[in-house]
Amino acid sequence: MKLIFLGPPGAGKGTLATLVAAEYKIPHISTGDIFRTAIRNKTPLGLKVQSIIDSGQLVSDDITIELVQNRLMEDDIGGGFILDGFPRTIPQAEALERIIDIDRVINFDISDEDVIARLSGRRMCKNCGQNYHMVFSKPAVENVCDKCGGELIIREDDKIDSIKKRLEVYRKQTAPLIDHYKKQDKLTDIDARPQAE
Ligand SMILES: [Zn+2]
Repeated sequence: MKLIFLGPPGAGKGTLATLVAAEYKIPHISTGDIFRTAIRNKTPLGLKVQSIIDSGQLVSDDITIELVQNRLMEDDIGGGFILDGFPRTIPQAEALERIIDIDRVINFDISDEDVIARLSGRRMCKNCGQNYHMVFSKPAVENVCDKCGGELIIREDDKIDSIKKRLEVYRKQTAPLIDHYKKQDKLTDIDARPQAE
C-alpha cells in the first residue's frame, strides 16, 4: 500500500498518517523528518539542507527529490509507506513517478476557513511546550497550562498572517496535484473538517 497524503497545513494529515502507519506497520515518511535525519547524520545532502535552511531559503525540488528517493530505497518500505508533505509540486510528482508507482492519493478536503479556525486556535505553553486548542482541547483555566501553570502563547506559524501565506502557497503550488492524480484515477477525497471531541 503505497500512499500519498495530500492536503493543506492544518488538515490533520500528520495525525492520521501516524495512526494508519502504526495500524498497517508501514513507515510514515514526512519530508520534515527526512530533512532532520539528514541534518542529524551530517550526510553531504544533510549539510546542504542545513545551510539552505540557515539562510532562510526553501529546499529546492532537486534536493528534496534526491532525499526522498534515498529514503524510498531503504529496506523498510517493502510493505508500503505513507508520504506526508511530498510531493508538494507538479515537478516533484513527476519525479516521484519515475522512482516508484503510487497506489492511492488521499486528498484531505478542507476549506481555508476551517484550516484557519483549526490552526489559529492552537496554543502552546511557553514554559513546558504542552499543546492546547481553544476549541478542541481547552485548558481548565483560560490561557493557563494544566501541567505547569505556564502562560499559553500562539506560535509564529499559527498566527493568522502566517497561516494565510501557507495556504496561498498550498493553493498555488500543491493543489494542482489534486487534478493531476484525479486524471490518473488515483484520488480518494476524505472530509477533513475539524470535529469537536
Ligand atoms: Zn506548561
